[in-house]
Amino acid sequence: MSWSFFGSSDPDRMGEGDGGFESLFMGESRWYSAEFLYTDNQRLPDTAFEVQGGVILQRKPISALSDEESAKLVHYSGCAITPGFVNSHNHSFQSLLKGICDDADFFTWRDDGLYKYARLMTADDLYAGAMFAFAEMLKCGITTVCDFFYINDQANDNAKAIIAAARDLGIRLTMARTLYDWDGAPDRFIESVDVAVANTQALMDDYANDPLVHVVPAPHSLHGASEALIKAGCELSAAYHRPFHMHIAEGQYERQMMLDKHGLTPIQYLDKLGVLTDRLVGIHCVWLDDTDIDRMAGAGTKLSYNPSSNMALGDGVTKIRQMLDAGITISLGTDGGSSNNRASIIEEMRMCNLLQKVVLCDATQSTAEEAFLMGTRHGGTNLGLPLGSLSAQHAADFVVFNLDDLSLQPDPQLHFGKHVVYAVQPEAIDAVYVAGQRIVERGHIVTVPDTVVVDLVKTTMNGMRERL
Ligand SMILES: [Zn+2]
Repeated sequence: MSWSFFGSSDPDRMGEGDGGFESLFMGESRWYSAEFLYTDNQRLPDTAFEVQGGVILQRKPISALSDEESAKLVHYSGCAITPGFVNSHNHSFQSLLKGICDDADFFTWRDDGLYKYARLMTADDLYAGAMFAFAEMLKCGITTVCDFFYINDQANDNAKAIIAAARDLGIRLTMARTLYDWDGAPDRFIESVDVAVANTQALMDDYANDPLVHVVPAPHSLHGASEALIKAGCELSAAYHRPFHMHIAEGQYERQMMLDKHGLTPIQYLDKLGVLTDRLVGIHCVWLDDTDIDRMAGAGTKLSYNPSSNMALGDGVTKIRQMLDAGITISLGTDGGSSNNRASIIEEMRMCNLLQKVVLCDATQSTAEEAFLMGTRHGGTNLGLPLGSLSAQHAADFVVFNLDDLSLQPDPQLHFGKHVVYAVQPEAIDAVYVAGQRIVERGHIVTVPDTVVVDLVKTTMNGMRERL
């Protein structure tokens, strides 16, 4: 396959001399420290953590390290270390559509932008789009992305092109393999229930032992997946003890459609189907009423919230304050590049909070500490993975911030948690590690140079324009 320029996408080769992965998972332990760690809203000075096999083993005071441990210590002087940020919703290929359908209404955006280009993208184009999206994310401190992928062509080769891009760059990937059977969409999205289930199951099995790739089922939405397909996705998630993701009540039209067709709100309808469970992660959930929120909280259903995308498409504002108070676990997503032209969870933390303040006309209704958990630990919860915390038995995915950067002034020692949510710019990121491997160094990706990604995007766009 031509789409894997830099490595192998073949899961059978894992750990068998496959370059980076061998060193990743069989290396000696290392210790890391900085001026302080910032995790789970705690500022931890004089603290180091040990990493081996891509996982954090333990934390200890720097002053308590033995001579042998100190010899293996990487200390970032003048810096702070946070967990890597978790992007719980994205469509990577849409990064190639930035600028093409900006400022359009939803149906123009979908039909003249998304569907038009999705019809002509090859596996090489999809790979290039994923390289573009994931490279931008890494530079913004995102160490895990959930790619909700639906250009499947009744097979898994395209999904494997996305996986290859993640592997080549070194970002951790949850592949939300979409189940789609609405015949109003391009044929490439559509599968019968049996084919969708068989393909999704095959992909889950292919990557069952992959430490960096996790596959979950994702019935597209109430308009994109039939009742049978939604139930099938839920059953697959139960059989594999994994979450399943689904767009829910993004636009007002979907709520109205369900009320007209079934006399039920989207959440009531999902409950009636028996799929409103604690494994379901709803994407967006903008158009919910009070009883929907209570029902969702009671079922343990979670939310992946995409504030910038909801703003760009004029969807409305999800009731985040109310959902947090009800006890719903909320993570953050950037969504695709064609509905949010920036791929940064730091941006989403900020947007999430500003929107609640403006909608409720009350600046106390959102806090940086709540948003920080949404961008880190709760992202791990919603992907069913131990991510987003610098704690033992969590992934060794972390970001090193330079405390001398202009955007972290004044007084980054005292206000670091607030500055990371409201002020920091990507220039402050000194390094990004995924599974204990340094992927970004002094603002540049070390696995695949930025210039290579830019050239790939240019070539891809030229090719696509010729085929329009
Ligand atoms: Zn989406």
